[in-house]
Amino acid sequence: MENVLFWFRNDLRLHDNAALHEAISHGKILPVYIFDDRELETTALGFKKTGDFRLKFLLESLHNLQENLKAKGADLLIKIGRPETVLFDLAKKYEINRIVCTKAVTQDETSSETELATLLKTENIDLDLIWQNTLIHVRDLPFQIKFLPDIFTEFRKKVELNFRIRPEQNTPESIPYLPHNEPNESLTFEKLGIHDFKDDPRALQLKGGETAGLARVSEYFWEKDQLKLYKQTRNDLSGLDYSSKFSLYLSLGCLSPRRVYFEVLRYEQERVKNDSTYWLIFELLWRDYFCFIALKFGVRLFKRSGLKQDLNKKWKKDKVGFAKWVNGETGDLFVDAFMKELQATGYMSNRGRQNVASHLCHNLQIEWWWGAMYFESMLIDYDVCSNWANWNYVAGIGTDPRENRMFNSATQAAKYDPEGKHLKLWL
Ligand code: FAD
Repeated sequence: MENVLFWFRNDLRLHDNAALHEAISHGKILPVYIFDDRELETTALGFKKTGDFRLKFLLESLHNLQENLKAKGADLLIKIGRPETVLFDLAKKYEINRIVCTKAVTQDETSSETELATLLKTENIDLDLIWQNTLIHVRDLPFQIKFLPDIFTEFRKKVELNFRIRPEQNTPESIPYLPHNEPNESLTFEKLGIHDFKDDPRALQLKGGETAGLARVSEYFWEKDQLKLYKQTRNDLSGLDYSSKFSLYLSLGCLSPRRVYFEVLRYEQERVKNDSTYWLIFELLWRDYFCFIALKFGVRLFKRSGLKQDLNKKWKKDKVGFAKWVNGETGDLFVDAFMKELQATGYMSNRGRQNVASHLCHNLQIEWWWGAMYFESMLIDYDVCSNWANWNYVAGIGTDPRENRMFNSATQAAKYDPEGKHLKLWL
């Protein structure tokens, strides 16, 4: 029996958690979450790196994880600080033999892994990084990552030829707990600098956490029977059920993409199999694709020249124009309604995201990555790969040479909000 520290990252769940499963196979577990205080820093653009909506959802998700762990005989230790140093100190103090966690793919997160591995080596402690954030396991791709197609459709066709999704991991019956006397740092609104959080009655009203995530699958698929309509409704602009809202739970790993996939298969067997049921999996493949893009291109995802390394394209450093975009005061009412919605709730439909991003990049020609940073701060469902890759694509500096994501908001408004319902709701 080893002493194992399980580092919860964006995998805040007990169901289908391959990394947790691996940890349990080695011995007694000390489950830990580290809140990196750099998330509270203010960016050069004047907003918090992680805004209040996302912090609140994270807090709810952590509390839920804590309860779910307690029900299995364990608990969650929450610490604040730099993950690598906090983990190293804990590992020494509790004679840990091995740290296990989910593998990340992007710059800040992989730097933490590298620094942690370097520190642990000095104490002869192992670090196991387990891949599990995507639907398709990276090792099951039919090509090496350097040969990932530049065009999504080519990627999709290649993976669909021999579609293989690994089975889900069982939820552990109980978790062998490594006792400790470490004080928990209670994360509260005050500690996170949230002083006057206002819940907008027009917001989604979805709570964070694994329990709520699984309940949302149940509600959307089974109780409301919405999946069979997904392809027709997914481009709507307001309401809870036009799309799944799984992104909120997938982004923190409260929900496993494989759970969603196998529930779709069950729905196809027990209710109906149609274009809509396929389309939800199709969208999950976009999510996977952007994760693999991040793995292939590394830091280029975050550079203003983008994945394409387009150094010729000029972006305006227009802070006044940017503030108007942020505050929903551009004068383009279709765009402004979405930006007000984001500001009031931390969520916006996919159609909205595409339109407001296009407006910033193409109409205003303002630095696209300012927009990506603002989304990072505001979106409850912020996902580093999906956000930065989608912005690359809309800005026209992604990998797909055929993509032209410039939207005409008048045409879009006529098609998607013909009666101006969304507009009236937010303006
Ligand atoms: P549904 O329509 O129900 O889709 C089901 C799932 O498929 C989603 O939960 C999501 O995991 C995946 N998905 C759907 N569309 C996309 C897409 N275009 N790219 C990647 N995955 C997709 N999504 C995020 O999860 N986090 C982000 O930070 C994010 N930033 C975005 C920024 C821009 C500029 C744009 C254009 C899109 C962004 N998206 C992001 C993608 C998409 O808008 C959201 O995933 C979707 O709106 C979430 O709502 P839903 O779960 O109801 O989606």
